[in-house]
Amino acid sequence: AKQLAEYIWFNGKIVPWKEATVHVMTHAIHYGSSVFEGIRAYNTPDKGTCVFRLNEHNRRLFDSAKIYRMTIPYSLEEINQATVDIIRENNLKSAYIRPIAFYGDIGMGLQVPFGTETEVTIAAFEWGAYLGEEALKNGVDAGISSWNRLAANTMPTGAKAGGNYLSSQLISMEARRHGYGEGIALDRNGFISEGAGENIFIIRNGVVSTTPKTAAILPGITRDTVITLLKEMGYEIREENIAREAMYLADEVFMCGTAAEVTPVRSVDGIQVGSGSRGPITKQVQDMFFGLFNGSTPDKWNWLTPVYK
Ligand code: PMP
Repeated sequence: AKQLAEYIWFNGKIVPWKEATVHVMTHAIHYGSSVFEGIRAYNTPDKGTCVFRLNEHNRRLFDSAKIYRMTIPYSLEEINQATVDIIRENNLKSAYIRPIAFYGDIGMGLQVPFGTETEVTIAAFEWGAYLGEEALKNGVDAGISSWNRLAANTMPTGAKAGGNYLSSQLISMEARRHGYGEGIALDRNGFISEGAGENIFIIRNGVVSTTPKTAAILPGITRDTVITLLKEMGYEIREENIAREAMYLADEVFMCGTAAEVTPVRSVDGIQVGSGSRGPITKQVQDMFFGLFNGSTPDKWNWLTPVYK
């Protein structure tokens, strides 16, 4: 793989990027048997480089593993420490961090032998705005996908598992093919679910709505952050089913995720949303969100974990 940093944390050791390799018979490659996280660290003025919501992310990693009955042979505290260590070891100021636990070269059987432990690696590297700087400012054109998000009784979308990302790839490939910046899926009931890698918010008449956890979403940590920040600003938030046309009729739409951060949506299916550019409440949310990292939003919630101290 393209070398993105000097070192990777691999099964308890820090190894050079090029040495962090697995065998082609790795179970996860064949069957998608991995759970992972995407975390960001930001360079803050007061506390230097800080990991954002470290414990919540790695807790979700263990939650995802629990759903699939996977045994991660480290504690949450060890993984939290390793996450900080690998940023420091690579001397990064800001970073995208990718912890992943997966079944390795454990044989060809689909069924995992009882007691099998996962392998774990954590990569950290520099990564800019996922949908582009331009998108953060002016918004993306999104399209509703012809692919539905996984139905609740097929595969659990609440687990951040490798296999789920085949669904995300179909959604985003189709979107790009039709010239959209990102794709949004409906759930099996026909309501808005989520983007390929982002949760969705819509705003009309000052009321903010987001999809409920029952709408086949990954309950995003950025979603939770945004809900908290909006409440702090005094907005009412509804977690409710959102019909496709509600996106067309919204004054503002935005999507959010660790990679995408808070990105405005300026059109859906080619229909202009509101004024067709970033809306005022979306801008407020962005300012408060990025304010956590530039010092203008006080970190009341203890969301920042310093890397260098
Ligand atoms: N939904 C999906 C499918 C995702 O991959 C992500 C990114 N992890 C999100 C939502 C947003 O989650 P978070 O804010 O925790 O990154």
